[in-house]
Amino acid sequence: MIDLVSRSTWGARAPSGSYTTLASTRGVKVHYTGGHVDPATLTDHSRCVAAVRGIQRGHMDGNGWIDIGYSMIACPHRKVFVGRGPGHLPAANGPGLNSAHYAVLGLVGTSGVVTPPDGVLHGIRDAIEWLRAKGGAGKEIKGHRDGYSTDCPGDALYAWVQAGAPRPVTTTPPTEEEEVPEVVSLGLSAEATVKPNINHSPWWTEEYRDTAGWHPAGGQSIAPDVDVWADVTTFIALRGFQPGERVEVGLTRHLADGSLVDCAWPTGRLMAVHADVDGCVETNLNGHLKLSATNRGRVTIRHTSANTITLEVASAFKAILHPYA
Ligand SMILES: [Zn+2]
Ligand SMILES: [Zn+2]
Repeated sequence: MIDLVSRSTWGARAPSGSYTTLASTRGVKVHYTGGHVDPATLTDHSRCVAAVRGIQRGHMDGNGWIDIGYSMIACPHRKVFVGRGPGHLPAANGPGLNSAHYAVLGLVGTSGVVTPPDGVLHGIRDAIEWLRAKGGAGKEIKGHRDGYSTDCPGDALYAWVQAGAPRPVTTTPPTEEEEVPEVVSLGLSAEATVKPNINHSPWWTEEYRDTAGWHPAGGQSIAPDVDVWADVTTFIALRGFQPGERVEVGLTRHLADGSLVDCAWPTGRLMAVHADVDGCVETNLNGHLKLSATNRGRVTIRHTSANTITLEVASAFKAILHPYA
């Protein structure tokens, strides 16, 4: 079921002219932003709304178009924004190429959010089906680069388009004996200060917790009560460092008393990251952790900065859990 964001909901400006109507098209062309997509959009839908409004502003005030150029826009939360909508000529495919295909944008870019989240892929697919049902879109699913000189929609989305734009499969269904939790939430609900670890002992300094209640202390460790491999994708954002200052981050495994067992496979150690010129660190962590009722997963951050370091985001977007083989 498509989760539409109406033009009034996203605060669209009215078109500055009349749309050219379309009874049907050969299909749909898929696009990406071609710019930076802030990873914070992954956990904050209001940033998706702001991004879509910004794109409309650029298309109307910058390009001089009558409206945002896309027919529909899919965000990481599997919501689909109505751009020009079905039955109207888009403007994003390139001169002479707009009447043949509707234009659907996925909110991924060339930096920040580069790998299309499942929500974006489902959203694009939802938009395609909607445009078929409501706008006479034909069967074709193509990329902007088909027939027009551009990198759009980026290699990742283009490979997906060429594969026929399949819906993402999020889990392999467990057998009855192997029933395991499917998704772990690991989200920081408010900013937190990360204390320095001046003498590096103990090695692991901070634990970031949610309120999901899996952790006995009410925290956010990943602590299933069954033996599973967890494939975790995490994003963290820190600020307050001196430019270039070093911080170490990792996915780690701990006993209930907090003592370290090991780091996520296959990296096996913390990763060193250096703060950018603004003193910020934004990084993804991916890894496999063998978890159980007694072995818990954590996001570990270690630094020795004299500054006050703020953790802005710490979230696990998805954790696919498999029983021990
Ligand atoms: Zn494009
Ligand atoms: Zn969103």
